[in-house]
Amino acid sequence: MIIVVWLTLVLILARLAVEIWLASLNRRHVLAHAHEMPEAFNGIIDEPTYKKSVAYTLAKGRFGNIEDTGSTAVLLVALFSGALPWAFHLFSHGLGLSAWVMAAFLFATGLAVSLPGWPFDWYAQFRLEQKFGFNTTTPKIWWSDRLKGLLLALVLGYPLLALILNLVQWTAPWWWLWAWAVVLAFQLLITLLAPVLILPLFNKFTPLPEGGLRERLLDLAKRTQFRARSIQLMDGSKRSRHSNAFFTGFGRFRKIVLFDTLVGQLTEPELEAVLAHEIGHFKKKHIPKMLGFSSVGSLVGFYLISVLARQEWFYRAFGFEPGNVAPALLLMGLLVGTVTFWFSPLIHWWLRRYEYEADAFAAQVMSGPQSLIGALRKLNEKNLSNLTPHPYYSGFYYSHPTLLEREQALAGKT
Ligand SMILES: [Zn+2]
Repeated sequence: MIIVVWLTLVLILARLAVEIWLASLNRRHVLAHAHEMPEAFNGIIDEPTYKKSVAYTLAKGRFGNIEDTGSTAVLLVALFSGALPWAFHLFSHGLGLSAWVMAAFLFATGLAVSLPGWPFDWYAQFRLEQKFGFNTTTPKIWWSDRLKGLLLALVLGYPLLALILNLVQWTAPWWWLWAWAVVLAFQLLITLLAPVLILPLFNKFTPLPEGGLRERLLDLAKRTQFRARSIQLMDGSKRSRHSNAFFTGFGRFRKIVLFDTLVGQLTEPELEAVLAHEIGHFKKKHIPKMLGFSSVGSLVGFYLISVLARQEWFYRAFGFEPGNVAPALLLMGLLVGTVTFWFSPLIHWWLRRYEYEADAFAAQVMSGPQSLIGALRKLNEKNLSNLTPHPYYSGFYYSHPTLLEREQALAGKT
């Protein structure tokens, strides 16, 4: 029993140590290139912007260290202070052990553990992003985003939790298989419906207005046999000056979304190249592939929970009485990040391969990589991206290859 506690403690602290170590590698790497812009970026960005991107990277790194330490402290307090068994006692003695009460217990503790992160989010938005000229969020928007997120979790997450807890009773000992199937179906439904039901709660989406740009993009869609009525403009400038484009959903509800900030920054051929990249993600079936991959992960996860939920020592190690599956689900929920963290280099390597595939597709349909390279350079410049991350750091965390990596890969395609 005591060994479980130690093992958990070691995993949590090792994660924090790796995070801080990677951050310090990255910091030193950035500082080593800070005084003089590396030759490779001549003509890509100017010296003042480069200096600003260095300052932004360093500020984010310092803040990241504080945030990582803070969230580790919260996790340790949650796991080892006895607060969770106390809360479980409160719920089960006051309200009983029904699935709806246990779901409420999971929801309430989940919320309580996430609350200490809010001041960090606030600081990141209204101090850090503000300082570097990115923030356009007002406190009112910030609070209404929180409220909407909470309501969504209540409407979607709470019934899902209750259903899973009921499945434990209805379908034991195979509940983990049922729970996995239900969660997978739920995920598919959300992916399908998010573009029409959830994203519009937070942003305004409008079809791209008539004009040269629309003509050009529709022509690209035709060339690549992509149904084009789903090219939408999003009011990203409502929250931030960062610019982006993404592809979401599948089937009838799929959408390609361009931030209004992006449209303001790029030329028409560059925007066309960005859209070609997004169509590349669609053509290469990246969303279904990612869903398939994550569903295998969650199947393993649910099976492991079902095994641990049968072990008395697992409950006792964290101060719970065995007998109800809710605390086991809670513990796994709290610890899932500590476990999946170690897989992030693999997952990100996988995601970066998708980016290269989408880039290659774009270069092919644009008959050359020039416009895509132009777009990537501007995106990196306008977003003050770190142009010189430590290879370990970017390898561990980056879902997209760095600018130089992408340019090199594209150069190989000509
Ligand atoms: Zn992409």
